Formats: sequence, structure tokens, C-alpha cells
Amino acid sequence: MSSDEFRHWGYQTIDWIANYLETVEQLPVLSQLEPGDIRAKLPETAPVKGESFADILQDLDKIIVPGLTNWQSPNFFAFFPTGISAPSILGELVSAGLGVQGMLWATSPACTELETHVLDWLIDMLKLPSQFKSSTTGGGVIQDSASSASLVALIAAREQLKADINQLVVYTSTQAHSSIEKAARVAGIKQENLHLIEVDADYRMCPELLQQQIVRDIKSGLIPFYIAATVGTTSSHAIDPLTEIGAIAQVHNIWLHVDGAMSGTAAICPEYQWIHQGLELADSYCFNPHKWMLTNFDCTCFYVKDRAKLIHALSIMPEFLKNQASTSGKVIDYRDWQISLGRRFRSLKLWFVIRHYGIEGLQYYISKHIALAQEFAECVKSHPRFELVVNPPLNLVCFRHKLGDAINEKIINNINSSGKIYLTSTKLEQKLTLRMSIGQATTDKIHVKQAWQLICKTAEEIENN
Ligand code: PLP
Repeated sequence: MSSDEFRHWGYQTIDWIANYLETVEQLPVLSQLEPGDIRAKLPETAPVKGESFADILQDLDKIIVPGLTNWQSPNFFAFFPTGISAPSILGELVSAGLGVQGMLWATSPACTELETHVLDWLIDMLKLPSQFKSSTTGGGVIQDSASSASLVALIAAREQLKADINQLVVYTSTQAHSSIEKAARVAGIKQENLHLIEVDADYRMCPELLQQQIVRDIKSGLIPFYIAATVGTTSSHAIDPLTEIGAIAQVHNIWLHVDGAMSGTAAICPEYQWIHQGLELADSYCFNPHKWMLTNFDCTCFYVKDRAKLIHALSIMPEFLKNQASTSGKVIDYRDWQISLGRRFRSLKLWFVIRHYGIEGLQYYISKHIALAQEFAECVKSHPRFELVVNPPLNLVCFRHKLGDAINEKIINNINSSGKIYLTSTKLEQKLTLRMSIGQATTDKIHVKQAWQLICKTAEEIENN
């Protein structure tokens, strides 16, 4: 493709994306296709001769769009949101256009230094503990996902011990994300040495039970080495008591990792900075701008208190990567902070987002979503046949119909197959629970109101049948 053709089709592609985002609200939120429908529309084999770009763009509408679940619809209330924004899309585009590899400082100094700098900015923006700043022994790095962040933290904790892996014990709550269990499995921790600690009535990890389990394990000759606490659990948005958990971790010299994947971004508003109370006791922390900070997937900000431990765990220097800058010890080589060697210029999109919206612009979205969720919770509370399962601390409302699992299951299935909104469910106290997760940038009062009307109407129809 020549430069002129690239310009032409580039403009057309941006137009296509803008049109998609302008009209996404009219599309079914959950894809209505059957398994295999998309592949049936694709040719059996790859084209031998190149095709026209016009045809390729047309097939986006014909083949791809019908097979999408539209995460960017303002009526998307499932899982947690995957934030995007125009500045972030443009940042991704520039990153693709530059095509640089940031594995070493030397392979593109701007890629490394912008990342370090933007991650330091975020510490001030979210009032995170200063121990994570690059000017201390700590530092931040962008990982692809919160799952990777939990894994590399666990590996760093494991490597500093040099102990028998069969003796190592991981702790997290029964409500923690499944990525913690996966991290333990990938890092070779025995399955029976992953201890899930029970939670209180608000689904927060019980520090007393954690303490008791640790003491029991030490008595049986095991080595407690990693606690993963959560700020904003996936099922109920519980915020674990970091101060108490951190104190226990310090007494027993256990690595404390805090997973704020979804909720960390809330701390951009001063009134929600309480969610990180006690975070200064953590060895590592992560949150996902790719969920709630208008930044395209993938972008997890991961911080450590002692970068030397992370680098010790992950650094290998083959001959072909040796260079003067690395040898000087004056630079960061981010390949030593992650599992893979290669890395994209991911900080560009975050830099674009932060500069375009500013702190106040980002605060607007967080405040809006939390206010909408609180209003939705009030509607649930005042309905005779629905109940709130837990008071929502932020923007996730967990609720259910009082008549039990069967009706809740029908409600969610009917709603999702209508394509009008998309909700997902979880189990809390063994009971099916509906989750209303409000965090899509374009979601407004009207969308939440319509969603509630649809939920009530669907429930009524099922009750009357
Ligand atoms: N931790 C929590 C609390 C989450 O809610 C999620 C995903 O929703 C994850 C971790 C996993 O995030 P990622 O997809 O970035 O690995």
C-alpha cells in the first residue's frame, strides 16, 4: 500500500470507526449469532492475490459487526466495562504506526521514559503511596492485564525466598478474581496451598480468619508467602480491609499484592480515595485503565515497592541484548519487569487520554457512573419484589428478584436475548445475583432508566406467566 493509499484508506477507516461508535447504541448489545455463523461467511482458504481495501472494509459491516457483542454500547452493563475513547484509539494508532519495540531502554528511549513518567503521574493523580514512585526503590510498569500483574508479583515474591515450592502458601479471599488462582497454578504452587479466606457480610476478606490460617500453616511447617487482597471484587465490589491485612502481612513477612483492577480508577476523585486506605503496606498494586479510565485494552498499571525484587525474578541477559545503556545501570529495561521480552508503546494511549481529558475530565466520568449506580440501587430498594444484595460502594449494583434463582435466571436470559441491554450474573451466598455494572463512557441517566424499566417489565411478564 503506497503512502497516498494509506492516507486514503486511513481516513476511510477512521470514518468507519466513528460511524460504528455513533450508531453502536442501535445494535443488539449481545451478539445474536449461533456458533459457527461467522466462519460460515469466511472463505475456506486465504486469498492468493491481494484484495481491494474497499472490499475489506465492506466485510467489516457484512461479516464482523453482526458477530460482535457491542462492549461500547451505552446499554452494556455486563462484567466490567472495557473503556475506550477517541484519544486512546488515536494513541493506539500512533503506537501501531511507530511500530517500535520497547523491550530495552535502548530500543526506544521514549517508549520507556514516557511509560515511567505517566505511571508516576498516576501515583499523584490517584494519591497512591509514594513508595511506588520511580524516584524511590519502587516503580511502575504497564502490563497487558491484571492477571499478568498478579502473576509477576507472585513470581517476585516466590523468587526472593528460595524455598521449597511445595511448602509455599498463597492467600486470597473466596471473592477474589479467578486470576489469582491461575497465577498460583502457573507459578507452580500446589493447589492445596491456595487458601481462600472467608469473607464478612460485605464480602470483604476477614483479617482474623487470615491470621488464624497463617498461624495454622506455619505450625504445620508451611511457608506463607503471598497474600492477594482486592479493591473492588468482581462479584460484589467488596473492598478488602488493607490496613488490617497489611499489618498481618508485615508481621509474618508475606508479600501483599493488591488487585484494584476495576475500582482503582475511582481514586481519581478525592471522595473515593478511601478505597486505597492501607495500600502503603502493600508490596505491589495494580489497576486497569483499560476498564474504567477510557483507555483501550490492554493497559494495566502495575506498581512495586521494590523493583529490585521484580527484576531479580525476571531478568535474564542473553548476549544479543547486551548494550551500553543497560550495562551502565542508569536506565530501566522493561523486559525485566514482565514475562514476555517484546512490548508495545502502550503508554502513548494513556498519555493521550490523560492529556486530552485532564484530571477533571476523568473525574467527571467516575462521578457520573457512581451516581448512576447509586440511583439504580435506590430503584431496586424501593421495588417490592427486588432486593439489593449488598450496598454498592461504587458503580456495581448486585441485586436479585426475591422469588429465587429460577426467576432471576429467566430474567437475565430474556433480557440478554432481547439485545436491548446486556447484564451478567454471579453467585453470592449461593444465590443467583444480577450485576448491573455501570462504566461505559456514553452511558447516561436515560440508559439506566430504560434498563431498570426493562428489568421490571421482564420480571412482571415472567411472574404473570
Ligand atoms: N481482578 C479483578 C478484580 C477483576 O475484576 C478482573 C476482571 O474483571 C481481573 C482481575 C482480571 O483482569 P484482566 O482481564 O486485566 O486480567
